[in-house]
Amino acid sequence: MNDLNPNLVNINTRTIGHYINGKHVAGTSDRHSNVFNPATGEVSAHLCNATAAETIAAIDAAQAAFPAWSATPALRRARIMFKFKALLDEHANDLAKAISLEHGKTISDARGEVTRGIEVVEFACGMPHLMKGEFNDQVGTGIDTYSMRQALGVVAGITPFNFPIMVPLWMIPMALASGNTFVLKPSEKTPSASLMLADLLAQAGLPAGVFNLVNGDKEAVDVLLSDKRVQAISFVGSTPIAEHIYSTGTKNGKRVQALGGAKNHLVVMPDADIDQVADALIGAGYGSAGERCMAISVAVTVGDVADKLVEKLQEKVKTITIDQGLNEKADMGPLVTPQHFEKVKNYVDLGVTEGAKLVIDGRDYSHKGHGLKDYDNGFFLAPCLFDHVTKDMRIYKEEIFGPVLAIVRAANFEEALKLVNDHEFGNGTAIFTRDGEAAREFTQRVQVGMVGVNVAIPVPIAFHSFGGWKRSLFGDHHIYGEEGIRFYTRLKTTTSRWLPSNKDSASKSMGSEFVMPTMK
Ligand code: NAD
Repeated sequence: MNDLNPNLVNINTRTIGHYINGKHVAGTSDRHSNVFNPATGEVSAHLCNATAAETIAAIDAAQAAFPAWSATPALRRARIMFKFKALLDEHANDLAKAISLEHGKTISDARGEVTRGIEVVEFACGMPHLMKGEFNDQVGTGIDTYSMRQALGVVAGITPFNFPIMVPLWMIPMALASGNTFVLKPSEKTPSASLMLADLLAQAGLPAGVFNLVNGDKEAVDVLLSDKRVQAISFVGSTPIAEHIYSTGTKNGKRVQALGGAKNHLVVMPDADIDQVADALIGAGYGSAGERCMAISVAVTVGDVADKLVEKLQEKVKTITIDQGLNEKADMGPLVTPQHFEKVKNYVDLGVTEGAKLVIDGRDYSHKGHGLKDYDNGFFLAPCLFDHVTKDMRIYKEEIFGPVLAIVRAANFEEALKLVNDHEFGNGTAIFTRDGEAAREFTQRVQVGMVGVNVAIPVPIAFHSFGGWKRSLFGDHHIYGEEGIRFYTRLKTTTSRWLPSNKDSASKSMGSEFVMPTMK
């Protein structure tokens, strides 16, 4: 068994640096960010924010590695992905633990995240087939045309705190298996699990320089956005930053896919099974403490189902076990940082001021009295439920990204659909109903990128593609799946004619036969 770098598994207070040209390197900057253990509230590591020079060094390494890597047969690149997949399986628990310790999510959620990431690696193992081009013989007499997809060069990924393994794996296997070299800039809040990927890729046989990682913030991102050698950027994070990355990156001539924030609505039709809906909302609204871009944050009740639903949710919320993420029995952990905790709590205060009815108030949750005094200073916020939320309230319009669910009451299907369609975000949505006609009407007319029918979190599997509409995605391509291959490659189309070696016959033929169809 290949062991991971023990410094990365044992994440006690330490300084986190970068991974450049096949080596872990210490950071040189005196600009540090704190990484927390959100369950205890302690600082578990200091992250050394990458300087411009360090980011340039990572791009230099990726640029130098590109010619050999892109010329490596796709079959050999895929074999490295097969080994990488086996190593991810072997270390899935270490990865999940590292995620949970910095993000706060439960270990079972973290394992689920690793699994979803591995599925993209499995898909990328098929790259020799997936990159196959097209061929037409005899497009003119003696003339053939074929197309192929070729890698772009150095590409970069900038990722959010909430999925430190899954979101980088939406990008890395797709980009590498298709022949690109990569620079990752993970979230400064949850860096350790992403950094472990570098070791596993090296153990799988990836040559030095093909994958590089700089930890840090805007300073590193600004270099990735402006350096001419970076051909494409995949970004996942909040909408204001996604928009900035898209506009700056495209202005600098780069291909950009920038996935942003969300406010996902679940429409509850009058005929829905309310027990099933309440279970779905508990998981989709409060799972991972609501820190998921596909979390449901709004339940739109149609007709008179709201009162029944609120009653069910009040019952079921009591069964949620809140604890530090490594407790196998926990259903929900803390929020990621003290700043994020304050932000979410302030939104709950705001909802009360705005006049929504706070039916379940999780603000004063404390581990005091639960016999878990080590976690008294953790960033725990228990589930909150607002009823009678209206569309003019900020708690409805803005992304909260915490365990806060809002109920908006709609008179009928049309009103519910209009709410979803009028919202600025269009990442995910769902309808719960027993009526096939309503379900079909909803899926056809809704202005959202990912839709669930009796499925609350409709994240597409690896061989489809993930992406929202409206201000949840800037760019032309969704991420991973076939869209991912299109994003990380460009099309080259060759038209060829092989002249006969006999010069007489060649010159005769060229007079009439070797003419492109369009010229006839
Ligand atoms: P964020 O936008 O704060 O940060 C995302 C990345 O951008 C990080 O790597 C961060 O260091 C970098 N960044 C932050 N400010 C920057 C700046 N001014 N200039 C350049 N780079 C900057 O997002 P977050 O808080 O880490 O993650 C939560 C957000 O991500 C939520 O809005 C959530 O909806 C969204 N998200 C979206 C998806 C999706 O698929 N659409 C998936 C996961 C998370």
